[in-house]
Amino acid sequence: MSARYHTLLSALPSMHAALEAFTAPGDIPCAASCLALSAALPRPLLRESIDGFLKLCRQSVMKGDVNSADDLGLPALLPRMVRHVERVSRPHFRRVLNATGVVIHTNLGRSPLAPEAVRAVAETAMRYSNLEFDLTAGDRGDRHGHVEDLLCRLTGAEGAMAVNNNAAAVLLLLDTLCRDKEVVISRGELVEIGGSFRIPDIMEKSGCLLQETGTTNRTHAYDYVAAINERTAAIMKVHPSNFRIIGFTRGVGREALADLAHARHLPLLEDLGGGVLFDFAAAGFPHLAEEVSAAQALAQGVDVVTFSGDKALGGPQAGIIAGKTEYLNRIKKNPLARALRIDKMTLAALEATLRLYLDPALAVKRIPVLRMLCMSEDELRRRAGSLAKVLKKRFAGHVPPVKISIRPSVSRGGGGAFPGQDFPTWLVTLQTETRTPDALRAALLETEPPLVARVQDNALCFDPRTLDKEEDALLAGVLGQVLPFRESGKESSPRLPPAKT
Ligand SMILES: *Cc1c(COP(=O)(O)O)cnc(C)c1O
Repeated sequence: MSARYHTLLSALPSMHAALEAFTAPGDIPCAASCLALSAALPRPLLRESIDGFLKLCRQSVMKGDVNSADDLGLPALLPRMVRHVERVSRPHFRRVLNATGVVIHTNLGRSPLAPEAVRAVAETAMRYSNLEFDLTAGDRGDRHGHVEDLLCRLTGAEGAMAVNNNAAAVLLLLDTLCRDKEVVISRGELVEIGGSFRIPDIMEKSGCLLQETGTTNRTHAYDYVAAINERTAAIMKVHPSNFRIIGFTRGVGREALADLAHARHLPLLEDLGGGVLFDFAAAGFPHLAEEVSAAQALAQGVDVVTFSGDKALGGPQAGIIAGKTEYLNRIKKNPLARALRIDKMTLAALEATLRLYLDPALAVKRIPVLRMLCMSEDELRRRAGSLAKVLKKRFAGHVPPVKISIRPSVSRGGGGAFPGQDFPTWLVTLQTETRTPDALRAALLETEPPLVARVQDNALCFDPRTLDKEEDALLAGVLGQVLPFRESGKESSPRLPPAKT
């Protein structure tokens, strides 16, 4: 190694000096960040992050990217070091901004919770609770008892229980009622949902045999009748969550199917997918009325329904099983229920969410998913307008210019709810000469917090439906991270990290 490299490298701060700069920064511009990081990070994590930064600096020197020892002293390096430590020491699982307009976005965590649910989670998570303790008897209690009455009230069911998720609910239902027997299902309902969750695979895992009937687009009552034999344990309906069969189609209504099943002493089961707990049309939202509610399905003769807690219901990840007592009692006694049981934080969030449903007007106001699905086009246009205003102000005089405008478009329900249905919305669009929309979209995935946006018609688009009004300023700040005020193209400082790791 040449003497020049040696001199440059020896100008780099030692680990000891760097650590001290974080724990006792003195009177320097980034002192607050240093102190915050040293207080928040476990010491080994802080050390590793600093070490990683110093390694990158050494690489920059060896590549000949640095010419002056002054650039490598602690005072010059510290701001970059702080940024590097902040970036690499972040928790892996964290908040993102959802500007896609997809309300129930499975990859982005599905339903944000109502504040009431968040409070209930915090309270029961931090302290002891009566999870399985009967406060009246002073003795062992049942975790399923906490939400059963609420679920029965909201669905009209005789009995109900909540498990880990809807996939677990389907598995438990079929394992209990149909193991080693046959289940009749229409070919038009053998669905695959994202994450390769396939109804036929779940049925197989539960040890029941699938008896497919009808064709993909048409299934008649006589198809069901022909498929039933002495080994049949149930007839099942499945919500076609992420597709729609249009054109020459035919299915059998729930009432007719229930009559057909009951005449043969068989239960009619239905996997509803997302759980709808009230009549959207009656509540003044006819555009959402296409989804059948759990109460409607049960009233039309279905014996047991299952649905998700974190789709259209807007609560935590959970699976709900509701229906006739004779079946629910057997399901509750299945040893598999222990393996699929709901945890205490979920239970707290679920009860708080369900309580809001006792007043549909309150539910629409407080449950984020319902509020977003029910936003009117006028409201979305106003929201887009006010977000555009915030962004225009942020980028006024920017070089090169950042063009912000609004335009009408559509959002999607997502999460297997409202398949194929368009929800009218207004988008805020952003364009700038030096960056393609795709490059901007990618850069925004690395901001803090990351922002997930969509690209449409050669513009980066933000759908205000899935952004809280209070997130507008945050969104502007995040955009500022990728569009620094003046993009002259030439950096005056030496090419040191943060480089991409
Ligand atoms: C989403 C969905 C499931 C799976 O529900 P999870 O709560 O994600 O386990 C099962 N069936 C249907 C019809 C669905 O739409």
